[in-house]
Amino acid sequence: MTATSALSPRDGGRRIVIIGGVAGGMSAAARARRLDEHAEIVVLEQGAYVSFANCGLPYHLSGEIAGRDALLLHTPASLAASLNLDVRTGHRVTAIDRHAQKVTIATEDHGFSLPYDALVLAPGAVAVRPPIEGLDHPGVHTLRTIPDVDALRERIDELLAARGQHGQAPRAVVIGAGFIGLEAVEALTTRGLQVHLVELADHVLPPLDAELAPLLADELAAHGVDLRLGVSAQAITSVGDLAQSGEDSPAGAVTLTLSDGATLAADLVIVNVGVRPASTLAREAGLELGPTGAIRVDADQHTSDAHIWAVGDAVEVTQAITGARIPVPLAGPANRQGRRAADSICGRRTTAQAAVLGTAIVRVFGLTAATTGANQATLARAGIAHEVVHIHPGHHAGYFPGSEVVHLVASFAPDGTLLGAQGVGRAGVDKRIDTLATAIRAGMGADDLAELELAYAPPYGSAKDPVNMLGFVAQNVLDGSMPQWQAADLDEAMATTLILDVRSRPEFAQGHLPGVLNVPHLELRARLDEVTAAARGRAVSVHCASGVRSYLATRVLLAEGFDARNLSGGWLTLKAVHPNL
Ligand SMILES: Cc1cc2nc3c(=O)[nH]c(=O)nc-3n(C[C@H](O)[C@H](O)[C@H](O)COP(=O)(O)OP(=O)(O)OC[C@H]3O[C@@H](n4cnc5c(N)ncnc54)[C@H](O)[C@@H]3O)c2cc1C
Repeated sequence: MTATSALSPRDGGRRIVIIGGVAGGMSAAARARRLDEHAEIVVLEQGAYVSFANCGLPYHLSGEIAGRDALLLHTPASLAASLNLDVRTGHRVTAIDRHAQKVTIATEDHGFSLPYDALVLAPGAVAVRPPIEGLDHPGVHTLRTIPDVDALRERIDELLAARGQHGQAPRAVVIGAGFIGLEAVEALTTRGLQVHLVELADHVLPPLDAELAPLLADELAAHGVDLRLGVSAQAITSVGDLAQSGEDSPAGAVTLTLSDGATLAADLVIVNVGVRPASTLAREAGLELGPTGAIRVDADQHTSDAHIWAVGDAVEVTQAITGARIPVPLAGPANRQGRRAADSICGRRTTAQAAVLGTAIVRVFGLTAATTGANQATLARAGIAHEVVHIHPGHHAGYFPGSEVVHLVASFAPDGTLLGAQGVGRAGVDKRIDTLATAIRAGMGADDLAELELAYAPPYGSAKDPVNMLGFVAQNVLDGSMPQWQAADLDEAMATTLILDVRSRPEFAQGHLPGVLNVPHLELRARLDEVTAAARGRAVSVHCASGVRSYLATRVLLAEGFDARNLSGGWLTLKAVHPNL
């Protein structure tokens, strides 16, 4: 790797060639122009569109973004006019000759080569193709580009028109319950399709901690989505057209066979099981790649070649908490990396690439799910010691109408450093996760969260904001003033301790663990003898609905000499982890 270097001008101005004209590539191009008025900047894009809003595609599919043009942020003509960029669509780069510093380009009808002084690789990612027999069936779609969404909308319109003749709602199967898969499910449901969602993992949105995912599953079910977890699609077979099949199905219908033997009928299928870095060109050019196949870059986005930079979904980044070198396919990092690459090319002091948190968010009908930093599975795999806290506060003051529960989970190192956080709820999730992402970036810990001064009036938050609450709870756990137990440890707690349920009698009657002692928390001080008798010298594992009343009860018990501990997140978290309770 080399240090930042300004390049020598070619014919009075350097030629910067950029491969890929969307998020990272176009950020690099625009920034390079702002820094260097005299450079020749050529953007080569294999597709028909540049600078399109790929993150907006699901919302055009649903119709929420009604006009297709709204997704086309720029055209080659508008980029030439505003930034004097030479943007060429339908130009696919097929090879990089590093020695001669030129790229080979194929268009529909000819090929040519173009020399460069600086080359930026922003080719993005390619969709992973799962091993499913019949994946090439025309009824199988992806959702990555403008032509993809055009094809899907056309098919949906056709199916909805046919609905009049056949009576039933068109049926869709979405394979993969990741961020884009969930957005596709929401879009298809909004359009009136009956949707099945197939996911190989045991919960939706695999990056989310397992105890939050059931909230999304419930939301999907409430909107009529048929969720199949822990299974994969094995084969897609054509049902044949209506005349041939004799069934009440529009032409192009397929049958999916799942790994558990079940079959699903569908009029369209969307496959979204993740992406891998588009690094073939880089590999063929002999650039250094990491073990994940992503292009290796330094803090300036320089590749192993002094004249080539790389950005976006195709490159490796350092994961902030574990230090792992992995690709993180998100728009924010791609855009910032594009800007940084241009700074480096133009000899400007760069802001070295910060380790990436993977902060991400998705809407699933009425719910929002968001994550930042490392989740529990990642921390466990990396062997990083941590304490997990769960809270379920209101998104704003409870006494102000419309308060919604924000389900938050956060992991802290033994020294209090915040390692990761996730949230699910109907309101206020985004600002908490953004605040927590900022806190992780700043190296903050439980004490800092407790002291954060956040904007408050009743319609917006609470005097003790949920972010402060995470800090308070983590302080209590880490300093030993509130020993806790986790829902995952239920079996052990049942076998070796007294479970004390301190919810009210009506709450207890609605559902409780077998053989536990119920003492509503307001009665606890007067009924300590009962607890002593039931505990028979064992520790007491306390719980309530969310962890607040049981915290108060735990403090009472500790003060009276009991070996007591509080269930993190209470019954709400327990039910999420053990849905059959
Ligand atoms: C449907 C969808 C929704 C998304 N939603 C979100 C979201 O809500 N939030 C978020 O953070 N991220 C989201 N993402 C991810 C985000 O869009 C990507 O992380 C980001 O676009 C990556 O930028 P990039 O420049 O690396 O690649 P891209 O933006 O994908 O651009 C790469 C371009 O390079 C072109 N190209 C590749 N090879 C060649 C070649 N050899 N010659 C010429 N051109 C080539 C490709 O055609 C492509 O247009 C979404 C992605 C999709 C598909």
